[in-house]
Parts: sequence; C-alpha cells; structure tokens
Amino acid sequence: MQLHSDKILRDAHFELVQSKLEHYYSNTKQQPVSAKWDIELIRNFAQAVNLESGSDATKVYEHVLKGLTDFAVHTPHPNYLGLFNPRANFPSIVADLITATFNPQLAAWSHAPFANEIENFLVREFGRKFGYAPDTTDGTFCTGGAESNLTAVICALNKAILDFQEKGIGSIGKQVVIYCSSAAHHSIVKAAKITGLGTQSVRPIATQPNRQIDVEALKQQIVTDQENDCIPLMIVGTAGTTGEGAIDDLQALRTIANAEEAWFHVDAAYGGAITISERYKRWVAGIELSDSITLDLHKWFSIPMGASLFLTSHKTILHQSFAVRTDYMPEDGNPDEVVDPYVHSVQWSRRFIGLKMYLPLAIYGWEGYEQLIDTQVELGQALKAMLQERGWEIVNDSSLPILCFSRETYEADEMTTIVDAINDSGKAWLSVYPINGRQTARVCITNYLTGQRELEELIALLEVHKI
Ligand SMILES: *Cc1c(COP(=O)(O)O)cnc(C)c1O
Repeated sequence: MQLHSDKILRDAHFELVQSKLEHYYSNTKQQPVSAKWDIELIRNFAQAVNLESGSDATKVYEHVLKGLTDFAVHTPHPNYLGLFNPRANFPSIVADLITATFNPQLAAWSHAPFANEIENFLVREFGRKFGYAPDTTDGTFCTGGAESNLTAVICALNKAILDFQEKGIGSIGKQVVIYCSSAAHHSIVKAAKITGLGTQSVRPIATQPNRQIDVEALKQQIVTDQENDCIPLMIVGTAGTTGEGAIDDLQALRTIANAEEAWFHVDAAYGGAITISERYKRWVAGIELSDSITLDLHKWFSIPMGASLFLTSHKTILHQSFAVRTDYMPEDGNPDEVVDPYVHSVQWSRRFIGLKMYLPLAIYGWEGYEQLIDTQVELGQALKAMLQERGWEIVNDSSLPILCFSRETYEADEMTTIVDAINDSGKAWLSVYPINGRQTARVCITNYLTGQRELEELIALLEVHKI
C-alpha cells in the first residue's frame, strides 16, 4: 500500500489511466465491436501477473486496459445493437469513481446520511414518475433486475402470509403460485428457486401472437390451480420482454390480481424507461396500479452495471420483509424519520448505487433523458422502415426500439448464419432470437451514440451478408 502514499505516482497513474479511458471513450467506434477469441490465450493473459511479489503498477494498469480492449464485446460501441447493455454516460462513469473513493457505507443511515438521502430522494422521484402516490411509495436500489425481482417475490410472500417471517414456506401448507407470461424473464424462476417456492410454483402462461400474456389463458389457469388447492401469490406483468419487447396488458393484470388478492409486480427492467417519455408513457398504462416495479438503470438509462431500482406502493412491506435486530449495527433513532437500508433490502453492506443515477439526472434533467428515449424510439421506427424497404420481414410486434427480423424465404437457421458473419466482421453486434421455430436477428437501440449512420451501416452489412 506504500506506493500509493506518493502523490506524484498517483498523479502519474491517474493520468495514464485517464488518458487511456478517454481514448477508449472518444474512439470506441474505431474498435472492432467484437472478435473471435482463443480461450487459452485469454486465460493465460489474465494470469500473466505476479501475485507473489506484485509488479510495477504502470504495467499492471496497462495490462488490464489492454485485456479489456482486446477481449470483450464492446457494449459501449455505437454499433453494438445487442442486448440491453448501454454505453454508460459520462457523469455516471465519474460517479463510480467518486463512490469508490469515498466508499460510503449505506447499510446504516447514520454512516452515510447524505448518500442515503440521495437514494431516498430518487426512490420518491422515480415513484412519482411511475404514478405512485407519494405517501405510500417506498423502494430500494438493487444490483440488477434479478435482485429487484427477487425482492418482489419476497414482498409478495410477506404480504400474503402473516407468519412467513417466523415460519417460512412450511407454514403455508399449500402450493403458492406465481403467474407470468412464457416470455417473462427467467429471473422470476430463479427467485422461485431462491425463496424455496421451487420452480413448480411458476406458471408460464401462453402468449398471444404479439407476445403479450394471454389474459384468458391466465384466468383459466388460475381456476384450474384453485381447483387443485393452490394459492395465487403473485402476478407478474412484463413491460418490455427481453426477447421481443412486448408489453403485457397491465390494467387487465391488475384487475385479475385484485380479484385473487394477489401481488401485482411489473417487471419493467428494460421498458420502464418509457415512463420518462410524455409522448410514449401510455404504452405502460397501468404500471401506476402495481404493487411493485423492477426498473433497471443499467439498461435504458445508460448507467454502468449494476444498478436497478425496486419500487413498491406499500410503504411498510420492505421493513416487514427484511427487518432484523442486531447488537452491533448503529442505532438510528426514530425509524419514522430515517430508514436503515440493511433492514430494508436483500443487501447488507452496500455500495452507493444511487449516485450514478443522481449525477446524470441532476446534469441532464428528466428532460434530457426524455429526449434520449424519444430519439431512440424514433430511431427504432426509422430502422423498421429501412429494413422493410429492403425486403426484411419484421417478426416481432413492439413499439419499443427492439426489432426481430428475418426474410420470408428463410427457414430455421439462415438468420443465425448472417448474424454470425456480421458479428465476426467486428463491424456490428446483434443477437439472434427464436420466434415460432425460426431464428430472427434481434436489434435493440440503447446506446446514446447510435444514430442514423449506424442504422445505415447495419443495412449495408445485411446487404453484404444476406443469403
Ligand atoms: C434484464 C432483465 C432482467 C434481469 O435484470 P438484470 O439486471 O440482468 O439482473 C429481468 N427482467 C427483464 C424483463 C429483463 O429484461
């Protein structure tokens, strides 16, 4: 640790790293988006350090930056049109540096009051944007959508089962059931595994051709389950499915959840960002009626991983679900005035995740984010038209900027061959997604550097590689 007491060295290291990061940030487009890799080579490169004696810091920093440059799918690249991974915006990158340096401990309010109040402020602000009533809104920052969805299942269990805290799953005596569409994210299944409900508690409900949950099929399944003495615990609506960007009929799901007294959770990990747009937020109408919401910040909000928000319209449910007593944590006085996150969430020690949302929001404002989201929706519409003009068939049905496409003449795997060839070229990166037994190319716009030029480049690549 000696080394780092020397300011001159620190300055030199900062300068070295900063100049290389700046180079990467401003020249990302000059990188191949991705490459073909040799596992052995990468494994050896990762091990090419001396852990016994340590080595010269400059060399180690350069080693890491080279490894990340040479051996990664460059999600910050404007031609990365793959999964929801964005390019982090500049203030959020600075936020991570600030957070690591101050390293505030957010477990207890009294250890990091300002940081905690920033997170509480953001919970209230996002709650407001989603249409929750201010006096009942609560929430917590999570590492990702998987943790947010897990939190939702835990809250649902605590709401439904009075002595769940003490007696756990065994106290139920019946099979409880989670309903979601067959296109829902598999972190719901994981949450069922983790909470001890088991995968058999999840009912993947059939979807309509547009991939929205089939509400009639859901109703029928609930009737069948009740005949078999099962309890409907929770209904999960997805606002922006991971594959095709479908948004369930949230209002219809709320009505069903009401009738069954089930918890209504909206997994809006990706699509929730549309709430920021005055023009398009009607697409997620009904989200304000939910019991809880998952919103990933590290998807459409251009924030580095891992950053997600769990929001709930039940003021006390997080406390009810996660409260524990300890002798060694600082006492924080009146619990009506301040909240200790460690008795309020899955995590204990916790990073200041909220700063990387707070800084860009304070700098760009909701207006800045709204413009970004509207622009990306419109780029999606433009790309759709460009693809159709050139004979590509859009196979999914979403207004969000996710397009799954193929050609009418293509059967099972032709699109995979084309996508592989494009990805191997290093000039763009797309994913493949199967729809009705056929592979489609899946393109998603979440990168603030992606523009008309990148769309034209994609069209040109498709022309070169099409069969
Ligand atoms: C990405 C995603 C998740 C999982 O979120 P992570 O941040 O990857 O943990 C959950 N649900 C949906 C709909 C998603 O798109």
